[in-house]
Amino acid sequence: MTEQAPNVPPDVLPEVLPETERTRHRRLREQGSHSRADLDAVLQAGFLCHLGVVVDGTPMVVPTVYGATAGTLYFHGSVASRSLVASPQAPVCVTVTHVDGLVLARSVFEHGVNYRSAMVYGVPRLVTDPEEKLAGLRRLTEHVTPGQWDYARRPSRKELAATSLLALDLAEASMKIRTGPPDDGDGPDAELGLWAGVLPLRQHWGALEPDPALADGIGAPSHLTDREHRPF
Ligand SMILES: Cc1cc2nc3c(=O)[nH]c(=O)nc-3n(C[C@H](O)[C@H](O)[C@H](O)COP(=O)(O)OP(=O)(O)OC[C@H]3O[C@@H](n4cnc5c(N)ncnc54)[C@H](O)[C@@H]3O)c2cc1C
Repeated sequence: MTEQAPNVPPDVLPEVLPETERTRHRRLREQGSHSRADLDAVLQAGFLCHLGVVVDGTPMVVPTVYGATAGTLYFHGSVASRSLVASPQAPVCVTVTHVDGLVLARSVFEHGVNYRSAMVYGVPRLVTDPEEKLAGLRRLTEHVTPGQWDYARRPSRKELAATSLLALDLAEASMKIRTGPPDDGDGPDAELGLWAGVLPLRQHWGALEPDPALADGIGAPSHLTDREHRPF
């Protein structure tokens, strides 16, 4: 059984995602993007998304981890999860957001956030093929913690049966990216003599915290120690 995640070769995917009625930027269009490279960069820079889906008439936005290939976003959860049970039949909007800093302008009105974000639309598919399910779970695990799939015990048949895996095509998406200083540096408020600029936000991994239940002599594997104190 192959465990490589099924991946659409990047050269068969369009470099620019088609603009749809849903993904057409209307406000601050200059920050908008439909470039696949921007989508890939936002997805590769994180592992947490917010899955928005309407369940029994009520919108639910569920934070969940994901794994991305060039053409597919995978997320998983308990087979009993209400959001996952609903979403194979329902349209979803998945967002991924990275905050890079606070934009502190002279006026409160011009304050903002430097960020990179993606919104992906579609109807996810419940993955039932055992080979794709295992491959998708591997992609998800490796996306979050590279090296961990080969280190930890793999899911048993029973554990696989208790897990739902959803696959969402990365075919309809929009990105928005803001960088740089506040916008009021050349306006009348520049005369106020107030400090303005950006307060950057950076995330770092910390030191590993061993499980107190660990038996003596079990050291952390290098794929984890290599990440200690590194930028996220
Ligand atoms: C951390 C953070 C904080 C923010 N804070 C604020 C705030 O306080 N007030 C505020 O007005 N806006 C804020 N934004 C921007 C916000 O996400 C929207 O872009 C903005 O509100 C415009 O929304 P809209 O529905 O009018 O956009 P429209 O231009 O009408 O949206 C049209 C389409 O563009 C796409 N789109 C819009 N926004 C995004 C996005 N962020 N990422 C990817 N695709 C997008 C979607 O596909 C959407 O359907 C923030 C963004 C981030 C990431």
